[in-house]
Amino acid sequence: MHYLSTRNSKLNESFLNILFQGLSKDGGLFLPSEWPQISIDKLRNCSYQETAHAIIYPYVKEEISDYDLKLIIDKTYKNFNHQKIAPLINIENNKYILELFYGPTFAFKDYALQFLGNIFSHVLKHSKRKITVLGATSGDTGSAAINAFKGKEDIEVFILHPYNKVSEVQRRQMTTVDEKNIHNFAIKGSFDDCQKIVKELFINEEIQSKTSLTAVNSINWVRIIAQSVYYFWAFLQLNTDKVNFIVPSGNFGNIFSARVAKFMGLPIHHLHIVTNENDILHRSISNGQMKINEVKETYSPSMDIQISSNFEREIFESSDRNSDYINELMKSFLAQGYENLSNDLVSKMQSIYQTHSVHDSKVLQTIKEFKDKYNYISDPHTATGLSIMNNLDNKITNISLGCAHPGKFSEAINKAIDHNPDIPKMLKNIFEKKEKMTILENDTNLIKSKIMELV
Ligand SMILES: *Cc1c(COP(=O)(O)O)cnc(C)c1O
Repeated sequence: MHYLSTRNSKLNESFLNILFQGLSKDGGLFLPSEWPQISIDKLRNCSYQETAHAIIYPYVKEEISDYDLKLIIDKTYKNFNHQKIAPLINIENNKYILELFYGPTFAFKDYALQFLGNIFSHVLKHSKRKITVLGATSGDTGSAAINAFKGKEDIEVFILHPYNKVSEVQRRQMTTVDEKNIHNFAIKGSFDDCQKIVKELFINEEIQSKTSLTAVNSINWVRIIAQSVYYFWAFLQLNTDKVNFIVPSGNFGNIFSARVAKFMGLPIHHLHIVTNENDILHRSISNGQMKINEVKETYSPSMDIQISSNFEREIFESSDRNSDYINELMKSFLAQGYENLSNDLVSKMQSIYQTHSVHDSKVLQTIKEFKDKYNYISDPHTATGLSIMNNLDNKITNISLGCAHPGKFSEAINKAIDHNPDIPKMLKNIFEKKEKMTILENDTNLIKSKIMELV
């Protein structure tokens, strides 16, 4: 197995190269040369860790031994707070929530980032290399990355978040970590601005020659494959021949992980993409209009995104891996802010995905409805998905993703049900700790010089 780029299908990179590079030098995203096929029956009765091993090993086997991968996976999920790691909660007949908030920062990002942190440590242990982790966050990636990398000796971490546009808990989870290798930059702009700065720095020769920049955003392939694991895991908990997944989406990382699971043989019927009012994914797939609108702030900030980076991976796959087409399309999309996708491409994507956009008012209404009807309190991201699952019939098993612990978003919960959700003890602590962050203008050169000063 080797790796190619969405903008150069002839590229031939090793797993270790794409692990640290994150984004390809041609601006594209990495994908494996082939899709290994998983025999699902062999995974029946496996633990989460064993399932993870079976899914991930084919992608890394040229460079990480079977035994080392096992140690990395065991270490990763040891500190998760639930025996099942990702429990499946039955809501009613054939409707389930896959809860993904038992990692140290209470959102699904931990399932991949804790793993990524341990892979990095494993590889760096055998080299003299130092790396600089650079990432943009709309809220949860930042805290998950900071938790995964804090105190690691050979890794300096820079996380950009949009100033005043993440929830207080999300911000404090990042800014109250006082390890010396952690740097929080609050950028006066949107998440898309932060992500743009990160992408520009990744293809900047000056900073690349001084530091070894590493991406930890969901464009990093390891994150995608680590997230594919829980789709298999969920299916294995059930006695059914096919499933639908409902996935609250922003950067298209989590839903693309489901797509990868389908490529690898998981019998997925429909994949439901749910966006909030930032609905570019919904528009692109329902009518081919890939047009950037102004970013709106919603109760689900981790989905307040207009440029969904991983969507490029889907277009690449749905255009039969035509990197010439992707180069043209992305150049013109980023220059003009819009692009019309061809009918062929749209109908191909529609055969896999159904898309939805859910407004904030519906989110609050759904949180209340699930509390009243099932005594289940969901966070606002999860609620976007639940509002869609609510309207599906139960002929085929539906699994909606539980993206974050409701305690991370008490303001929205309070609006919906008039009282605060339980807040885990680990989250309460952060309200007493001192915060550390630097507020900066939305300016790539400024960020570049700040980073070069600090590494
Ligand atoms: C990151 C995140 C999302 C969006 O996932 P993508 O992989 O960016 O599509 C949704 N909900 C929560 C709580 C998140 O942290």
